[in-house]
Amino acid sequence: MNIHEYQAKELLAKYGIGIPAGHAALTVEEAVEGAKKLPGPLYVVKAQIHAGGRGKGKFKELGPDAKGGVRLAKSIEEVEASAKEMLGNTLVTIQTGDEGKQVNRLYVTDGVDIAQEYYLSMLVDRATGRVAMIVSTEGGMDIEEVAHSTPEKITTITIDPAQGFMPHHGRAAAFALELTGDLGKQCQKLTKQLYTAFMDLDCEMLEINPLVETDDGQLLVLDTKMSFDGNALFRHKDVEALRDVTEEDPAEVEASEYDLAYIKLDGNIGCMVNGAGLAMATMDIIKLNGAFPANFLDVGGGATTEKVTAAFKIILKDPAVEGILVNIFGGIMKCDVIANGIVQAAKDVNLSVPLVVRLEGTNVQQGKDILENSGLPIVSADDLGDAARKIVAEVKKAA
Ligand code: ADP
Ligand code: MG
Repeated sequence: MNIHEYQAKELLAKYGIGIPAGHAALTVEEAVEGAKKLPGPLYVVKAQIHAGGRGKGKFKELGPDAKGGVRLAKSIEEVEASAKEMLGNTLVTIQTGDEGKQVNRLYVTDGVDIAQEYYLSMLVDRATGRVAMIVSTEGGMDIEEVAHSTPEKITTITIDPAQGFMPHHGRAAAFALELTGDLGKQCQKLTKQLYTAFMDLDCEMLEINPLVETDDGQLLVLDTKMSFDGNALFRHKDVEALRDVTEEDPAEVEASEYDLAYIKLDGNIGCMVNGAGLAMATMDIIKLNGAFPANFLDVGGGATTEKVTAAFKIILKDPAVEGILVNIFGGIMKCDVIANGIVQAAKDVNLSVPLVVRLEGTNVQQGKDILENSGLPIVSADDLGDAARKIVAEVKKAA
């Protein structure tokens, strides 16, 4: 799960980490009110969307010469003018895709006199099973370019979770960022606080870009992105409450309400499968037969008819879907439950695309009978290969 910059900063502040003062705003009036509470005379108005690259982003509705999603303002009037231009408009950045994201929230924050910009992030490194802290002196808006053309300017420091954060980790970060004296000490303190926050909150990723050194020698977090392990949210109700579903794919939000693991993909064959491994194998075999999956969908082990119906409807809402392959191994989940769900959903939505179903396992015969007697044009398959060949052929036939 991702959260907005202002929410992440509020969380970090609780760990004693330095951030510039700021106020979130949903309206132009709130932006002006927020600015009035700041000392001025320099303000920054920042679009709050779940994507980076805002500074260099472009608003769809404004001309190519208009400013991006992070704007300096030298007066309250300039804050107001920027807020008016940004709210409700669509910001396109390298991370949003061409369709962009509508800006519904702003963050009005203190303008900071920047002496130097750095990059610092922490993430769960799956290869080592440890937290990796990544730092670079080349912070700011071009970190992707740095990683691509001068990777030697990026340093990775690995932290053993059994040992925890040690003073040498902080020193290594300060050394890599060429921070000495008091700034070096601030860096050591900051990296330790960040690691504590990262572990406490079950983060997946915590990125600070830029981390800045101010003209008066303070290290401050100017921009941050934070994401959390969804499987750990149950023990962080306060973090879960920060979720902004308007920033997420509507189908994925609906799926999560039914506890379904759904991820939208680019192909035309919808898949409904139980078990992540079987879902991956199903996607592979569709590809092997020359077509592409429209989604990943794992209905899980203990699905009910209601859950299966919901899953089916979510798949069918995707206009790219030209056929559906249901591949269920009935272990815990019984084949007749799945079959009932499929029949119910197919009737509810007036199924208009070919449907191939492969059932195997507990109550398989009852399941097949339910499909057979439903009067619906469902093609039955005997194994995975057979199912994939059949759905690809059906979609071709219908085209
Ligand atoms: P993004 O990464 O989405 O482009 P940032 O918050 O990193 O957004 O802002 C882009 C750039 O704007 C930063 O690299 C920094 O140079 C500048 N900036 C951001 N916030 C402030 C601030 N509070 N004061 C001064 N400059 C800022
Ligand atoms: Mg940034």
